[in-house]
This record gives sequence, structure tokens and C-alpha cells, in this order.
Amino acid sequence: MEENAHILTPPALGEKKYSPKTAIIDQHGRTFTYMRIAINEACNLRCMYCMPEDGIAFNSKRNLMTTDEILTIITEAGELGVNKVRFTGGEPLLHPRIGHLIKTTSKTPGIDSVHITTNAILLKDKVQELIQGGLDSVNISLDTLDKEKYFLMTRRDSFRQAMEGLDSALTAGFSSVKINAVVLRGFNDDELIDFAKLTKYNAITVRFIELMPFDAHQIWKTGKFMSADHIKQVILNEFPKMTQAEGTRTEHDIYQIPGFLGKVAIIPAFSRNLCGDCNRIRITADGKIRNCLFANEESNVLEKIRNGYCHGDVKNMLIETMQKKPIDGWSAGENGGNSRNSMAQIGG
Ligand code: SAM
Ligand code: SF4
Repeated sequence: MEENAHILTPPALGEKKYSPKTAIIDQHGRTFTYMRIAINEACNLRCMYCMPEDGIAFNSKRNLMTTDEILTIITEAGELGVNKVRFTGGEPLLHPRIGHLIKTTSKTPGIDSVHITTNAILLKDKVQELIQGGLDSVNISLDTLDKEKYFLMTRRDSFRQAMEGLDSALTAGFSSVKINAVVLRGFNDDELIDFAKLTKYNAITVRFIELMPFDAHQIWKTGKFMSADHIKQVILNEFPKMTQAEGTRTEHDIYQIPGFLGKVAIIPAFSRNLCGDCNRIRITADGKIRNCLFANEESNVLEKIRNGYCHGDVKNMLIETMQKKPIDGWSAGENGGNSRNSMAQIGG
């Protein structure tokens, strides 16, 4: 295949720790080294804030990226300085080739770490294969520690499997295990302290996430939204001595309770005051590049790959799309709001 002339020279194959200065930079000077890829839309849960009970208008299989197409995007992204890849979905563990995707990505030049965000229902049986394939860390979405509430929240009776998945992650030897809990006022906000207490004996990070307006039922309009500031205050009331800790680039609100092994983070997903530090590129399951979670514009990279693709085309599209990234999620949503109605299509 022909290499486009103005594209960086790719690293030699097998040269895993290649880290060029990132070539993906936006109009505001931010650089992008982290790619989140939704590898499917299907899910074995129906979380009330994510999908209606009957699911969403799922794309047909032929409109979704194949394994090879996903790997093509990762290869070119690695050549542009992307060094961190997260597989999400839908539910990524439902992907029939998740083991292959992780193994191949972890060996892709430029990619230093591979991660997954999952509801953990299928994790127990797959964890060994994934960790041996090079999976570095896992983020587990778990919004309640109560079996009955879990059923109400997810509309599936899978609490036991989710807890077994979490247990398997804790003993598997990952560099990091995080729990993502979306906070819904009047539903699970009475569990904030119980979640925080999980960090006493476990070196995990519990991340409380603000509800975002992405579900087809618009649950955020029902009064269940609870702000990051409010969440923080509830935890501070119980643990006034918790101190600021170190987190990832978008974990500014991260704390440690004295004597506890793990950390507690609060993610202002809806308030959007971390946009200045955003380093994320998002790829939807149907192969579109999104330069902001809240954007309504996307670039169809899958169409490019399927029509007269030359190596370098993906890099060009990544550079062009990310260059136009709006200053923050508020201005991204100004032109009519989000073009998607479920996070399952975008991957979170
Ligand atoms: N199925 C996997 C899981 O749940 O971990 C991966 C995909 S899911 C779309 C990724 C993340 O998005 C999850 O942590 C989920 O809680 C979060 N999410 C989905 N809809 C959301 C919403 N409306 N507001 C906030 N977070 C949401
Ligand atoms: Fe499925 Fe994840 Fe959406 Fe829940 S949040 S319905 S687990 S994709």
C-alpha cells in the first residue's frame, strides 16, 4: 500500500516502546495520546442511564468495525504517538476476539499500555487470557453494592457474576483496578460511603461519575443528577481528613482517606471542568472518530478504510479531526447537542 507523503515515517515493526513526540495536536495546543475504542454496541446489561430496556437501534454487524479494521486504526494511531488504548463498548468482553485484540494491540509499535472498561460479568472466565495477552488494567462499572438495586439499575440478574468478576480482577495482578460508579441521586447516593470504604483494604480507585445526558430515556432530566461538588461534600462529611492524591490526567479530584490503601476520585463528567487536560480520542463502534464526548460531528474513518484505503489515511483523518477539537465540552455541544443517544455507541 502506498504511504501518503506528508505522514510521519512509521517505526520499525516490533519496536514496541517507540514514543515519538505526539503528532496529534489541536487548535488549542492539546496533544492526544490516549485512544478509547468502542469495539461493539451489544451489551448483556441494560443500565437505566445508558440504554432503554429494549436496547437501542443497534447497528447491523456489517456497519460495525471488524477486528482487522480496529487493529488498522490502532496501528496508525501508534505511529502518531498514541501510546494508550482502552477497549470499551457496548460490553467489550462480549466481543468474540477480545483476547486477540488485546494481545495484538499490546504488541503494536508505540502502544505502551492496553486497558478495558467492562461491567465484569464475563471477566472471571477471561481474566487469565487477557492478562497474559498484555492487558494492563481494568475499569469495572459497578453502580451499587446491593443485589436488588443492581437488578433495578441494570435490568439483569447478574450481580453475583459482576462481583465475581471484580474479585477475579483484584487477584489477577493488574497494575490498576478501578470501579466506576455513576451516581444517581435518590438511588445509589446512600452508598457513597460504602463504596469509599472499599478502598480501605483494596489498592483500588473508586471513581464516582456524574450522570451524563446520553440515554434515550433522558434519565438526567428526572432529577437524579448529583454534581461532583455535592458528591465530594458527602464523602468529606464522613472523611474530613481525606487528602489530595495523585491520579491520571483527568483525575484532578482524587483523594486518599488516611490509612486506606486505595483512592477515591470524583469525575465531573457532566460539569466538564477538566476539558483543558483532555488527551482522548474516541472511536465509535461504527468507526467514527469523535474529538469530544459531547461533539455532534464525527469523521467516518471506517468508510475511508473500506474505500480505497492507503496506509496513512487514518493518520490524516486523526490529525484533521483532532485539530478541530472545540475548547471544551460546552462549546462542543453548542451546535445542536450530541448526535448519539447512548453511551454504548461511543464507549464512555
Ligand atoms: N459496558 C461497559 C461498562 O459498562 O463498563 C463499557 C461501556 S459503558 C458505555 C462505559 C462507561 O460509560 C461505564 O462506566 C458507564 O457507567 C458509563 N456511562 C454510560 N452511560 C452513562 C451516562 N449516561 N452517564 C455517565 N456515565 C455513563
Ligand atoms: Fe452496557 Fe455498559 Fe451501557 Fe451498562 S453502561 S448498558 S454495561 S454498555
